[in-house]
Amino acid sequence: MSGTSSTDNCPNCGYDGMETYKDYKPYDHHIFFCANCGWEAVTEDRYLSLEELNNERAKRNLPLLKELPTRKAILTSTQIEFKNKK
Ligand SMILES: [Zn+2]
Repeated sequence: MSGTSSTDNCPNCGYDGMETYKDYKPYDHHIFFCANCGWEAVTEDRYLSLEELNNERAKRNLPLLKELPTRKAILTSTQIEFKNKK
């Protein structure tokens, strides 16, 4: 893993042991988890459906697509890695 783990103050309850994980690959994303109050925040990525994508392309005057472009996969599985690491 290329990211870093540390602890910080929870913005919800103030607990100073909130766990954080930050990584810059494949793009900047963060995970925060507070074992005191249960607050959690994660960066997640997803792909739009063809209809959603064409709606966004239409707003930007881009040609509409007949089928979805090739997609590798969801780019981050950090949340799963983070949970499994414990
Ligand atoms: Zn908390």
